[in-house]
Amino acid sequence: MGFKKYDIFNVNNNIFGNDFKVYDYKEFEDKNIYYLKSMILKCACPTCGAISNKLHATCTRTIQFIPFNLKPTYINVNLYKFECINNDCPTKIFRQDIKYCGPKQKFTYELKCLIFAISLFLSDETTSKILKLIGINVSNDTVRRLYQNIEVSDNVDIESVGIDDVSIRKGMRYATVVYDMKDHSMLALLDGRDGETLKEWLKNHKKIKMVARDRATAYANAISAILPEAIQIADRFHLFQNLVDRFKEIFKREITEVIYIQEGQLLDEKPKKEKSKIEREETIKGNIIDGLDYDDTPPIDDNGKEIKFDGNLTKPNMVKRHSENRKKK
Ligand SMILES: [Zn+2]
Repeated sequence: MGFKKYDIFNVNNNIFGNDFKVYDYKEFEDKNIYYLKSMILKCACPTCGAISNKLHATCTRTIQFIPFNLKPTYINVNLYKFECINNDCPTKIFRQDIKYCGPKQKFTYELKCLIFAISLFLSDETTSKILKLIGINVSNDTVRRLYQNIEVSDNVDIESVGIDDVSIRKGMRYATVVYDMKDHSMLALLDGRDGETLKEWLKNHKKIKMVARDRATAYANAISAILPEAIQIADRFHLFQNLVDRFKEIFKREITEVIYIQEGQLLDEKPKKEKSKIEREETIKGNIIDGLDYDDTPPIDDNGKEIKFDGNLTKPNMVKRHSENRKKK
């Protein structure tokens, strides 16, 4: 239940899968490299699906991996090229894929996610610098390309969508996200959140029957203007927020600004001032002191003059003067 038991004697399979075997590992001054070789004997053609065992050649790919010892870490993968056995297939030769990395990628999916997550909060340049500190080698241009290549596939026949606003780069910019209600995939990322770009998008998606949105009136107006027939739904989070706001309004109106409570009882009006408990206690203490013999006359300096307390004892020169006076004595 949420716990995957690893075979600790087979770390290789756990990290790199069954298709590859680590046959070497080298630690250089500026990087670590795991050397992997393919262990498969057959592979399915990505075009026609026919399983081929006709090895064509080997090739090598170098892919950056999650860093080890805060040093850039790469996997150098030796993999196979196969010949498709289906004569009718347009693909003659294909390369075996690596399940934790895209076909033309220089980073594993895991590493790409990490870079992307950090870049959401920082500039491309800062992302590159911060990642370098933990052993990830990525230029600011690559960071930019990563999120520019995010695939957003639109669907003009979509019938139910969700719309929300997102802040990009810590509130520097706002955007409107439109997503498919069924699988939550992103359909569009539109500039701004004033509803203008949304209006344009909705004009090409007239089959929409249902829209889940936040409470912003900008979206509500845009939907009503373009798709007056569509049902607008506020999601649970936003409904709850509405409820809280309404309660606040009611409380503000119905409940007075100041409430007086005395000994657990709610008072109708401000209580009349009477001697507080603390004041009474101090009076008692005062009486006790009155009965004692003590000297409360002000201190006198060497010339018999009264030393007045001016409340400036914290001044450094004052403290210094006092300590000098003590030394003289
Ligand atoms: Zn094929």
